[in-house]
Amino acid sequence: MRIHYFLGAAANFKKPFRYLFSSGGARDVLKLEKYLSERYDGEAMLMKNGRSALAVALSCYFKPGEKIIVNGFTCYAVIEAIKEAKLKPVYADIEAGSLNFNAKTLEKCLERGEAKGIIVQNTLGNPVNIAEVKKFAKKNGLIIIEDLAHSAGVKYASGEEAGTVGAATVLSFGKEKAIDTISGGAVILRDFKMINGARFKIPRNARKTWVQELRPTKKCRKSDSLRARYYPLFGKIYRGLSYVKLNGIFMRILLKIHWVEKSADNRLDLRRRPAGFEAKSALKQFKKLEAGAGVLREFYLLNNRDEVLEKLRKAGYYFDGFWYEKPVSPERYYKKSGFKEKDCPVATLVAGKIINFPTYYNEKQLAKAREVLKEYGDFWKEEE
Ligand SMILES: *Cc1c(COP(=O)(O)O)cnc(C)c1O
Repeated sequence: MRIHYFLGAAANFKKPFRYLFSSGGARDVLKLEKYLSERYDGEAMLMKNGRSALAVALSCYFKPGEKIIVNGFTCYAVIEAIKEAKLKPVYADIEAGSLNFNAKTLEKCLERGEAKGIIVQNTLGNPVNIAEVKKFAKKNGLIIIEDLAHSAGVKYASGEEAGTVGAATVLSFGKEKAIDTISGGAVILRDFKMINGARFKIPRNARKTWVQELRPTKKCRKSDSLRARYYPLFGKIYRGLSYVKLNGIFMRILLKIHWVEKSADNRLDLRRRPAGFEAKSALKQFKKLEAGAGVLREFYLLNNRDEVLEKLRKAGYYFDGFWYEKPVSPERYYKKSGFKEKDCPVATLVAGKIINFPTYYNEKQLAKAREVLKEYGDFWKEEE
């Protein structure tokens, strides 16, 4: 089966022309940084994308060569950041029910070597058992980094907000993320005692200047900012063309002339800031989020995925991809990830069975899609 990679093609942008011509500048970048610094109680810095933000966080807290535990059901962007920081990923298997690692699978990771840190991912907005993770981290002296690409605004069972627990918090504002401005990301450094492996301490009054040195100095590339501006409009045309089955060729052309870029191919770059209009849009979305966010993408594990997808397609649903079709996605980067299927059997199994609903369907549409699934019968979602 062919899987498309244009998750929803920006269907959550209701007014593509407004985004195309939206204003925004350096002031909006500062405004969002201030908001994030307060919200997550640290020093925030906007970056070009989530993977660059994660690379900054990792290189602040870990030394080259160290191992870091990562959810064994993730995207290659995370691994790219780990590699950029010259660290090594150790994959933890997941529970089928939450798509996250748990105390048991974390313990198993340590049998494969000593790790120094752990990236919490809250897959598809499902929060990890944070009490368990904290206990594990404390016992083994691990530093926690929270990656909120899927889970901005989510609350843990402990009552804490995601992003207020770890030494650093990372956000992605990429396509279909919890906050979606097509591209962009942020890192919030929270713990200044552990920075640089506590080789030196940064006094409170020196934090701002210290962080200043890490801050990207170059403006967003014109081509990147144009790609972000146009994407919602292209998405709308793409969806329109899907009725006459010309969407595929349309997207292939846009890719060929580099007017659209696949999310997975977005370059890691530590020197570039996001565009001002993206920061402005992100801040607006955060304000909306204050009521509290839920699950990002409802998921089902199916024994006959291809058939069910075909049925959903016939019922008028447009699924152009899901998270994740490989334990480290997308497939074309999977080989480079160093993932060993025998270490993470549940993640491997789940990747072959999962589908998830894009974020833009409303409750009524979702109810109908669930009917299709129910009618089909054999789906399961229980834990291994
Ligand atoms: C998408 C994603 C990232 C990276 O985001 P980019 O902005 O695409 O670099 C990081 N972590 C997770 C879990 C993601 O899904």
